[in-house]
Amino acid sequence: MYILPDDSIFEIIARVAEREEVEAYVIGGYVRDYILGREHPEKDIDIVVLGDGVRMARNVAREIGHGTKVTVFKTFGTAMFRSGIYEIEFVGARKESYSSNSRKPAISPGSIEDDQNRRDFTINALAISLNRKNFGEVIDPFGGLHDIKNKILRTPLDPEATFSDDPLRMMRAIRFASQLDFTISDETLASIKRNAERIRIVSAERITVELNKIIATKSPSKGFMLLEETDLLPVILPELSRLRGVEDKEGKGHKDNFHHTLMVLDNVASGSEDIWLRWTALLHDIAKPITKKFVQGIGWTFHGHEFIGAKMVPEIFSRLKLPLNDRMRYVRKLVGLHLRPIALVQDEVTDSAVRRLLFEAGDDIDDLMLLCEADITSGNRMKVRKHRENFALVRRKLKEIEEKDAIRTFQPPVHGDEIISAFGIKPGPVVGIIKTAIKDAILDGVIPNEHEAARMYMLEKGKELGLTPG
Ligand code: ATP
Ligand code: MG
Repeated sequence: MYILPDDSIFEIIARVAEREEVEAYVIGGYVRDYILGREHPEKDIDIVVLGDGVRMARNVAREIGHGTKVTVFKTFGTAMFRSGIYEIEFVGARKESYSSNSRKPAISPGSIEDDQNRRDFTINALAISLNRKNFGEVIDPFGGLHDIKNKILRTPLDPEATFSDDPLRMMRAIRFASQLDFTISDETLASIKRNAERIRIVSAERITVELNKIIATKSPSKGFMLLEETDLLPVILPELSRLRGVEDKEGKGHKDNFHHTLMVLDNVASGSEDIWLRWTALLHDIAKPITKKFVQGIGWTFHGHEFIGAKMVPEIFSRLKLPLNDRMRYVRKLVGLHLRPIALVQDEVTDSAVRRLLFEAGDDIDDLMLLCEADITSGNRMKVRKHRENFALVRRKLKEIEEKDAIRTFQPPVHGDEIISAFGIKPGPVVGIIKTAIKDAILDGVIPNEHEAARMYMLEKGKELGLTPG
């Protein structure tokens, strides 16, 4: 089969390859995505040359001109440059050999076959010739084209060696399955299961990159089911794995919180691309196993799982080397608040309860509402309908109160120094007491969120506390 994207960059590489008398091939992800016709194909192009990759990169960059700047990665023997929308990386074809305690192989120059042998999946081992003799020919030693057509992920060589050599490939298998909606072949899947423990030799950073790519897919539940099925999940995120299973007592069961969580994750994913909001879905019930209790006459309870769950977030983020910045605080906050909108609709939807929720959620209120609606996974259609109607009511109220009171970006209408100078007092706990009283009065609708009203209220509160103005 002959194919090649109609792009002058390949013509340029071919021209240089011929002049320099080296063979060059496009290989890997670019070829795969091009054949798949993926809507947003990776714009990084990997070029393998039989010879010196760095030298080739320099020659091609010179041919392109326009001051194209080559970056060389000495330790990897690779070089890259940007050209238009592309990021093009060059490497000399190589052979790899692994030792048992590291995923970093010893490398030596090799043939194009050697280079294809070191690739992780048949669909990632496809190469396209850029050489005059067979320009555009697909070099497919492992049936990668067939596997693309049948949507199958399979290792080119023995899967045991492939995964044992570099266990990160197990994560990549599941990531590609989820991302491309492919099936992992039985033999490959069984091998992942046998090698799952070896994922421990891979750094948390590398695992997390793949985990986030799984979370970013259209229905991430597919990837997480595979992670669980292959026994990788208990190693990389045991808290999530522990959500699985149901317990029965006195004829009362509870839902399987693993499957529930994955449904919530997919629901959120269908409403938002934001991976951090998706993380909140993944972790919203994470403390259910810890807080689970069977109460006579009531059944299963998970009291406080939202607060305990929120407390678990920093630990999980730190272990997975996820950022410990405002993204972490956002996930922690939403996990902690995830029951609030639903609690609101179960009671009466009072203005003051809505204001308090707006105050605590701030600008994340819309995300919280999305999470909370995604959390309704009951099989009971009447119940679901009722919940959704109540949600519509809460949304209306939120809008109404937000327009009226601007609570979302709440700033105290009376500041500490104003309190200090009004009563001629020194800074101290009493200032905080008055500030809190003002805030509560606003949230409870006793006074409007305005300076003059708040000032009057401050004077009143001060009097109660035995202070006199002046
Ligand atoms: P994407 O860019 O969407 O992550 P990709 O397949 O292009 O997918 P890259 O990490 O860019 O992945 O790697 C480019 C190519 O290098 C892959 O297609 C594959 O042939 C090879 N490759 C990458 N990582 C590994 C690995 N851990 N083991 C074996 N081959 C790999
Ligand atoms: Mg790539």
